[in-house]
Amino acid sequence: MNLNIKSDKAQTYDAIVVGSGMTGGMAAKELTERGLKVLMLERGYELKHVEDYKTAMKDPWEFEHRGKITNLAAEEHYASMYFSAKEGTQYLYTNDAENPYIQKRPFNWIRAYHTGGKSLLWGKQSYRWNREDFLANAKQGLGVEWPIGYDDLVPWYDYVEKFVGVSGQAEGLDVLPDGKFLPPMAMTAPELHLKKSVGQKLNRPITIGRVAHLTKPQPWHTALGRATCQFRNRCSRGCPFGAYFSSLAATIPAARQTNRLTIVHNAIVKEILLDSQGQKAKGVRVIDQNTMEVREFYAKVIFLNAGTIGSTSILMNSKSSRFPTGLGNDSDQLGRNLMDHHLSVGARADIEGFEDDYYFGARPNALYIPRFRNWGNDKRSYLRGFGYQGGASRADWSRGAAETGFGADFKAKMTQPGPWKINLSGFGEVLPDPNNRFYLSEDQTDKWGLPKVVFDADFGENERAMRKDIMNDGAEMLEAAGFKNVVPYDNAVAHMGLGIHEMGTARMGKDPKTSVLNKFNQVHACKNVFVTDGSAMTSASNVNPSITYMALTARAAKHAVDQLKARSL
Ligand SMILES: Cc1cc2nc3c(=O)[nH]c(=O)nc-3n(C[C@H](O)[C@H](O)[C@H](O)COP(=O)(O)OP(=O)(O)OC[C@H]3O[C@@H](n4cnc5c(N)ncnc54)[C@H](O)[C@@H]3O)c2cc1C
Ligand code: SF4
Repeated sequence: MNLNIKSDKAQTYDAIVVGSGMTGGMAAKELTERGLKVLMLERGYELKHVEDYKTAMKDPWEFEHRGKITNLAAEEHYASMYFSAKEGTQYLYTNDAENPYIQKRPFNWIRAYHTGGKSLLWGKQSYRWNREDFLANAKQGLGVEWPIGYDDLVPWYDYVEKFVGVSGQAEGLDVLPDGKFLPPMAMTAPELHLKKSVGQKLNRPITIGRVAHLTKPQPWHTALGRATCQFRNRCSRGCPFGAYFSSLAATIPAARQTNRLTIVHNAIVKEILLDSQGQKAKGVRVIDQNTMEVREFYAKVIFLNAGTIGSTSILMNSKSSRFPTGLGNDSDQLGRNLMDHHLSVGARADIEGFEDDYYFGARPNALYIPRFRNWGNDKRSYLRGFGYQGGASRADWSRGAAETGFGADFKAKMTQPGPWKINLSGFGEVLPDPNNRFYLSEDQTDKWGLPKVVFDADFGENERAMRKDIMNDGAEMLEAAGFKNVVPYDNAVAHMGLGIHEMGTARMGKDPKTSVLNKFNQVHACKNVFVTDGSAMTSASNVNPSITYMALTARAAKHAVDQLKARSL
């Protein structure tokens, strides 16, 4: 390692943002728009919006392996291939073989080390947490109490949703609070039938998924070069229309417009540096991922947005005489209460009829069934709940790959829409558990000399009990609609990480003795360090989390700037 550390005044900024993904982009936008000179440090390579989406416009036959991932690529992408890495998307997923980690218990750590992070890959499902999500820990004596409530986040949800552009239908449900929506996408005919049947027979609402796609761009979207969604559902290869929200399409361009943003790529933030009193951060130490050069950058405020595991690892690596086990770890909570959502459980069915019905384009969305278990008067043997994402569509030409046949008749048959099928896939809440954790290896390092991450976490009895309901309730709803060949399923090998909603490990809380961050995402014992990604989460809810991370980030950024102006940081 090159120890010729470059450090000078020219490397001094008002704020440093670590990571350029979903939350780093939001932090950079907010901090620059509020007048700060910001340095964004990204460990991965530079990915340029539109021009670097190299597979975005390819047709299936243009892929050498017809879209399938090769055995070699599967070995390199062992974390992500199970879920979603395909020939057209693998370039956006991190090569796990080059970035190894240790699984004491199974964990898929799915990463995207490049500009935009996982905001390029996400499914865009965007749901607010409800009031109870923030209260459940305190009521049930689990984990610690949230230091904020739903009302604290309402203005920030409003603000972020408006900027992001979230399509959805207002339903007036307490369990799934409405947001600031662009026009909703349409349900298919069998989905409308399911909604009616399940509403009438089981009194459970169903809505169209709330997604960060521009169904009707507003002036602030088009001003950033974003356009209407084309319903082509190739989003995970990157969107040349900027129609789904990513930091590349939205927050980074907005931050750049201020002329106050500098981005340095290939910069792996290793640790946070403290001032001579050891109470306050003065900057970060960085390793260039290609040259191994070590550099230091300085700022008054540091935002950690390196993704849940990334941000907490940086805190763990930042050891000093004041913080011998990692920055902010007075409570011994760093790395603990690792959560995710559990999935790969639900029900599917065939649908007869509706032969004359079709739909517009390839809708990049699903339907959503909000939580109904342990809600209102419903009481189960387990705690918390789950929702479903899924939908009904017709089999396309690719069903021909599994059929024998050739020639003109076969091709003509494949141009006709296939039968309808439906799937309901559950997303269940995982409880905070201090024994579900990750830590840094004491004897194994990666090629940059950084300790490898060790995962030691699994689902517990509560999650296993919930899965039975997810499966059976899904089947019950499909049967209520009269669908055929209903198959409940539970992929028993499902484990932590596959939900790609990893969170916790540096939780927010009221008491510095039991939590790492305060109600504004500041490290209790080092107030100019903010952590605003999933690490901050005190519990997990059952809805997709990214819009909540972004609301927390925007809120924390305002607080940071206010505090700087008041000279309190
Ligand atoms: C296939 C898929 C589907 C998903 N679907 C949804 C969904 O529908 N709804 C939803 O809410 N969420 C979804 N998610 C999750 C969502 O992508 C994440 O919650 C979100 O991206 C997290 O934002 P982040 O800023 O914390 O991390 P990221 O977006 O991952 O960004 C972290 C960035 O930090 C960089 N970094 C890491 N370590 C360092 C370091 N030491 N130094 C410098 N830089 C560093 C990384 O390279 C990366 O660019 C999905 C994810 C995937 C992969
Ligand atoms: S479906 Fe919409 S958001 Fe997705 S790639 Fe196509 S235009 Fe972009």
